[in-house]
Amino acid sequence: MINACAQQKAKPQDTEFYTPVPKVVTPGKNNFDPPSDAVVLFDGTNSDQWISADSAGGPAKWIVQNGLMKVNKAAGDIRTKASFLDYQLHLEWRIPENITGTGQARGNSGIFLASVFGGGYEIQILDNYNNKTYTNGQVGSIYKQHVPLANPLRAPGEWQVYDIVWTAPRFKKDGSLDSAARVTALLNGVLVQNNVLLKGRTEYIGQPSYKAHGAAPIQLQSHGDPSEPISFRNIWLRPL
Ligand code: MG
Repeated sequence: MINACAQQKAKPQDTEFYTPVPKVVTPGKNNFDPPSDAVVLFDGTNSDQWISADSAGGPAKWIVQNGLMKVNKAAGDIRTKASFLDYQLHLEWRIPENITGTGQARGNSGIFLASVFGGGYEIQILDNYNNKTYTNGQVGSIYKQHVPLANPLRAPGEWQVYDIVWTAPRFKKDGSLDSAARVTALLNGVLVQNNVLLKGRTEYIGQPSYKAHGAAPIQLQSHGDPSEPISFRNIWLRPL
């Protein structure tokens, strides 16, 4: 009887609220164009938002031409000048049509979602259109941690699109982990990582672990394999 009475008195308005008000964001003309609050990291004209990821820093020496930024394997990784905490990232990349090699040595690159301690947390870029490797190291994987949910890759020579949501790890004052990093990622519009918890920084050999850090740059990998270098275009993010 008490429940019935309470239900009679309840109104729809009891569960409707008007604050906080979401900020207005003007979307791009197309969904792959940067929205009004985006930080544009590469628009096809120059690599000014990037520097060399080696300890000396200095200008990024990847090749910018025809609206693309191509990996320069002699120059090594590059990273953003700015640091970010949590964000939504859009990035497009292309494996050359004439790609050669097998396994991990075929169009290998990657995005270190936070560039820390000379490495970071890598989501893999690799040509797995018709190329097998260990599944926790294929395209869409959180390298050696999370196998992708699908392989929606297009053929070499076609553009591939990553949309990634990164939640940075948080650390306590004593440096111990407070909350693990999280990643949600879509590759070519298909969900490949669904809010996965990371075990720590990417390790090629051995188990991942955490070491305290704050906001960090984003790093693009220049992998040492001998296959043709890949290209990037249209890179932007929205800090969250
Ligand atoms: Mg890689």
